[in-house]
Amino acid sequence: MSRYADFYRQSIDEPEAFWAEQARLIDWETPAAQVLDASKPPFTRWFVGGRTNLCHNAVDRHLAARGDQPALVFVSTETGVERNYSFRELHDEVQRTAASLIALGVGRGDRVLVYMPMIPEAAFAMLACARIGAIHCVVFGGFASGSLASRIEDATPKLIVSADAGSRGGKVLAYKPLLDEAIRLSAHKPDAVLLVDRGLAPMALTEGRDHLAAALLAQHRDAEVPCTWLESTEISYTIYTSGTTGRPKGVQRDTGGYAVALAASMKHIFDGRAGETYFSTSDIGWVVGHSYIVYGPLIAGMATIMYEGLPTRGLDRQPDGGIWWRLVEKYKVTVMFSAPTAVRVLKKQDPALLKKYDLSSLRALFLAGEPLDEPTGRWIADGLGVPIIDNYWQTESGWPILTVANGVEPMPSKFGSPGIPMYGYKVKILHEATGEELTGANEKGVVAIEGPTPPGFMQTVWRDDARFVDTYWKSVPGKLVYSTFDWGIRDEDGYYYILGRTDDVINVAGHRLGSREIEESISGHPNVAEVAVVGVADDLKGQVAMAFVVPKDGAALTDAAAALALEGEIMQRVAGDLGALARPARVRFVGALPKTRSGKLLRRAIQAVCERRDPGDLTTMDDPAALQQIRHLLA
Ligand code: AMP
Repeated sequence: MSRYADFYRQSIDEPEAFWAEQARLIDWETPAAQVLDASKPPFTRWFVGGRTNLCHNAVDRHLAARGDQPALVFVSTETGVERNYSFRELHDEVQRTAASLIALGVGRGDRVLVYMPMIPEAAFAMLACARIGAIHCVVFGGFASGSLASRIEDATPKLIVSADAGSRGGKVLAYKPLLDEAIRLSAHKPDAVLLVDRGLAPMALTEGRDHLAAALLAQHRDAEVPCTWLESTEISYTIYTSGTTGRPKGVQRDTGGYAVALAASMKHIFDGRAGETYFSTSDIGWVVGHSYIVYGPLIAGMATIMYEGLPTRGLDRQPDGGIWWRLVEKYKVTVMFSAPTAVRVLKKQDPALLKKYDLSSLRALFLAGEPLDEPTGRWIADGLGVPIIDNYWQTESGWPILTVANGVEPMPSKFGSPGIPMYGYKVKILHEATGEELTGANEKGVVAIEGPTPPGFMQTVWRDDARFVDTYWKSVPGKLVYSTFDWGIRDEDGYYYILGRTDDVINVAGHRLGSREIEESISGHPNVAEVAVVGVADDLKGQVAMAFVVPKDGAALTDAAAALALEGEIMQRVAGDLGALARPARVRFVGALPKTRSGKLLRRAIQAVCERRDPGDLTTMDDPAALQQIRHLLA
């Protein structure tokens, strides 16, 4: 048996022994009394009775051996700022922030919502929460008031940490007005708001509620705030993600299991070593940012690069398609993590840029978030001359489910496949309708995971155990098994291929959007009678959202100018409610939407027509003319 096969087998057959060994990769104040508690499936508790702290493991424990080595490298091609923080400086910054949070009344178990651009203060806030046992809920800075409001309402934060503005491609996006509007919309109001002023946009402060970070941090300059030792099963954070319903789910993560999972993945999957530099181009608003910008690299004693800006602009804010490679050379990056979409953007740049810098430090580029198409994979593999490692996972899992574990044993990758199941994951392909396991090669089914789920995997849906069980564990008939809501196949060598979502989730540039969320926003327009939003294949972004709207007054159906005006209003509405990311690429107007006789929207048939594929069996369709109209519109 190969080394990895052995390793994997042990993780499945003897999970307690396997994970007890992995638990040694982090520091514990009290070791676990029980490694695994799977007595109440599908809930899984790891390292029960153990006490640890994420911030201690990410920062404090490195002070003795590498206090003066870089921990966080901040590069903003938006503001032209480049700054290094050593582990010691990071420790100081985090303590100042922690003291400020405490001064604002935040304690263990309280929620702190972080609505921040990619600036170091965002990482300080996350680590400060972890330090004192507060639960952080980071909301992507590109989300607008409606999305933010629903998250504030669900998380009920005592405090919100934010900033005056973010910036993208030189365009400043003021956050404060969006935040004020979100707080106004939310039934829950935070006690306090802590604001970092970058000097990018004016901020109107609400007396008694809003506090400027600079003033508070200055008061706590020399603060010493010890880490609070937390139970391994205590909540470290929640992060919201989209699913089938309009209401986003708060994916809830523990403390000890997550720390161990990340430490193990840094060793076995990413093969990143203490003292080296890790560069993930994601955003702290996504799960990749949590696991592989902030916690993972720091736990491993690596410096992490936090990058604000486009991949095509330099520190002098002039076009520079080589900026990322410049950073790899400058900081001797050994491990890089990005998304296929970003590579597709870079593919449009001069290929000579890949040869212009010394990239000899780089051992591998990891790509995740969406399917990696072969031309993109080959282009970057040829250009960089290092292994390109596709990895498949979800907000829910916290770390890769399918990839290759080159830290355990070097293994070949196959184009188009993220790889094989990672240790701890019992991955199955199940028949959609019967739940029967499909064991043959290349049989298409739902990718599912059998419990107990490994450390780091979501504990539950925040404040909604029933939703966790019903949504994720009861969708396959007759079995208590976790559904990823992805279609997949496994080839004769055991490599998996992901074939798209089984639900109505749209993946735009690696970001997950719920079609229902967008539909709900559009339905709010007074001239919209009905709407269907589908994800349609796109060369650059993987998928884009397309909206089909039945207008209340027929003008948009017959008058091109009226249609254009209404399309503009609808796009603006979605951007205002949810953020620019969710704005549909096009809004088309139709007289009716294709539905089943029982009134269910046929999103998949619409999607098929948009992608010029066969819409399949339409015998249950109520009004075939509706689909025909869409086909004509697109012709
Ligand atoms: P998120 O929770 O936003 O990370 O989105 C997770 C979803 O993105 C998965 O359920 C897949 O549909 C898709 N996804 C993530 N990584 C990959 C990958 N390497 N290959 C194909 N699809 C992926």
